[in-house]
Amino acid sequence: MKIGFIGLGKMGSGMARNLLRAGHQVTGYNRSREKAQALAKDGARVANSPAEAARGSEAVFTMLADDHAVSDVVFGDDGLASVPHPAPIHISSSTISVAFARRLAQEHANRGQRFLTACVFGRPEAAENKKLVVVAAGDSSTIDRCRPLFDDIGRAAIVAGPEPWHANLFKLCGNFMISSMLETFSEAFATTRKAGLDPHRFLDIMNELFQSPVYKNYGATIADQKFDPAGFALKLGLKDVRQVLEAAQELGSPMPVASLVRDHLVSAMAHGQESLDWSSLALVLARSAGLEEEKSESTSAHASSGSA
Ligand code: NAP
Repeated sequence: MKIGFIGLGKMGSGMARNLLRAGHQVTGYNRSREKAQALAKDGARVANSPAEAARGSEAVFTMLADDHAVSDVVFGDDGLASVPHPAPIHISSSTISVAFARRLAQEHANRGQRFLTACVFGRPEAAENKKLVVVAAGDSSTIDRCRPLFDDIGRAAIVAGPEPWHANLFKLCGNFMISSMLETFSEAFATTRKAGLDPHRFLDIMNELFQSPVYKNYGATIADQKFDPAGFALKLGLKDVRQVLEAAQELGSPMPVASLVRDHLVSAMAHGQESLDWSSLALVLARSAGLEEEKSESTSAHASSGSA
């Protein structure tokens, strides 16, 4: 299939490479051109605009930071919305807000363009190794047409519902679950470390109990305190928790734990942790416990210089 791929960051580059490996003809676009050029070495064509990546393609993925980035790529100059009929199916994989996903669906429908959501669970390593869990939503015949693509980028594809935003809400609630695990791990690690106990031994016990790759991988990151380079940047994690709270408020469903995690992520941002992995939430709880003053100060100085 001819596929456009827009957004070749940590996640998008691995996803696009797997589409190339599966034999698709991929035209990539990235705002900073060097990331698209890196994919050219794997056989992708490089486009100069989102519209150029989309033109002539049967489907075009977007894997971008947030609502603002997707809005620029869809509605900006030479954006996806400007592609004349027959436009490709737009597959939105970015973690965006429910409200914006609804707007995108409406705007595409107004233009007679097909639109799906295919959010993904999994870190950049999972994207590179075709291990993502894809959560798709939208019109069922369009999903059937795209299902082989989901199989090419992931290990499982689950349909959330007939409206594209259904997948966005599942994705945001799923990330909230992960963030609350980060919060509880961070609290428990701070307490056990305050007592002088070995965090790795605590992690071994938790892995026996929970047997989850999420616990295992994030638990190790926190026990080792290896937050740089980020697999998932803390500022994007804050975006997701904020977005689940917005959706929950609109639905009239309180999420008190999400509110707590949001405040701790805001504190992390205030300490310069925006570019560290979001599991560096642990530093917030460590600071609260009077631990890690030196380490968190040096990490935040490093994070600030890294993002300048
Ligand atoms: P990333 O490495 O920071 O990539 C973000 C991408 O968005 C880059 O291609 C960036 O272009 C582009 N972008 C940002 N603002 C833009 C704008 N105004 N116009 C055009 N392009 C813009 O982030 P990522 O980790 O790949 O995450 C991408 C999406 O996947 C996010 O929605 C994230 O929440 C979601 N996600 C991430 C993970 C994870 O573990 N990392 C897992 C699942 C889902 P430049 O290169 O020019 O900056």
